[in-house]
Amino acid sequence: MNILEVKHLRKWFVIRRSLLDLRKSQDRIVRAVDDVSFDIRQGSVFVLAGESGSGKSTIARLILKAIDLDDGKIVFDNKDITALKGRELRWFRKNAQMVHQDPYASINPRMKIMDIVREPLTVHEPDGEHEEKVLRALEEVRLEPAEEIAYRYPHMLSGGQRQRVAIARALVLKPKLIIADEPVSMLDISVRAEILDLMKRLQEKYSMSYLYITHDLSTARYIGDHIGILYKGKIVEIGSIDKVLLNPLHPYTKALIDSISEPDPNNLYREKRIEIKDETFETIDSGCRFYNRCVYAMDKCRLEPKLFEVEEEHKVACFLY
Ligand code: SF4
Repeated sequence: MNILEVKHLRKWFVIRRSLLDLRKSQDRIVRAVDDVSFDIRQGSVFVLAGESGSGKSTIARLILKAIDLDDGKIVFDNKDITALKGRELRWFRKNAQMVHQDPYASINPRMKIMDIVREPLTVHEPDGEHEEKVLRALEEVRLEPAEEIAYRYPHMLSGGQRQRVAIARALVLKPKLIIADEPVSMLDISVRAEILDLMKRLQEKYSMSYLYITHDLSTARYIGDHIGILYKGKIVEIGSIDKVLLNPLHPYTKALIDSISEPDPNNLYREKRIEIKDETFETIDSGCRFYNRCVYAMDKCRLEPKLFEVEEEHKVACFLY
């Protein structure tokens, strides 16, 4: 069963021409998210990976209904939530929580940890017993002694501890889906593994589902079950995490994998799977969005390649296959 189905999602932004320079500039359309579809199975982790500006965070905001979509459909827990309003929207927001990239920016520095974690409970379960639930959530994320941590302020905690607070806040309502947007990218390398371990343990314990958004494929393989590689608002490769990362097909996926910095010195001199061209080499307005960086670009790439299945649980959008 799928907890989330995203179907043909589209969001384009119009960048208005500059009022200061009307002659030179023109309105520009940015196809931030363009016909994106994927499913997340109940109790599994779907990774959305790509460079900054690929549209990952826009997809998260569309799913959470922070911005309106132009086209497409979102189904959550078998319910079409595309046009939800009022009580039903509150039901969805209770069951789909977000963990942001910057733990300090996403929590109010003037509130005590108890109040930060309690806030979603006061919104969604106003009549419940909150304090005990907050303390249990802090223990779940290994912020102990919880009774002491609960009465501290965020600046009294380390970056890793603050991200644990953000996870406790997302967890306290026992949501069905957590959307984690680059949750470890601002943390020291030494604490990234601890936070990923924690997220994985909680996901398995509560059979939760995650949409894990990242530019870093080294963390993706650790936590993910399935992955979609996003480039300029399009999914260019999608499938099971092992098939996509162990046998990447799209030139962009190969380049992303090659860009992983490996701590293992034996990998420093490994052969690069692919070179990519400088983005300024040549641009085209339609066709494959990777055309101007792809060393394999050919005439037919001026048409848009569609995703097609090369094997079970592995699709790619590229004319090389
Ligand atoms: Fe390169 Fe063409 Fe494949 Fe696009 S469709 S990635 S330009 S070979």
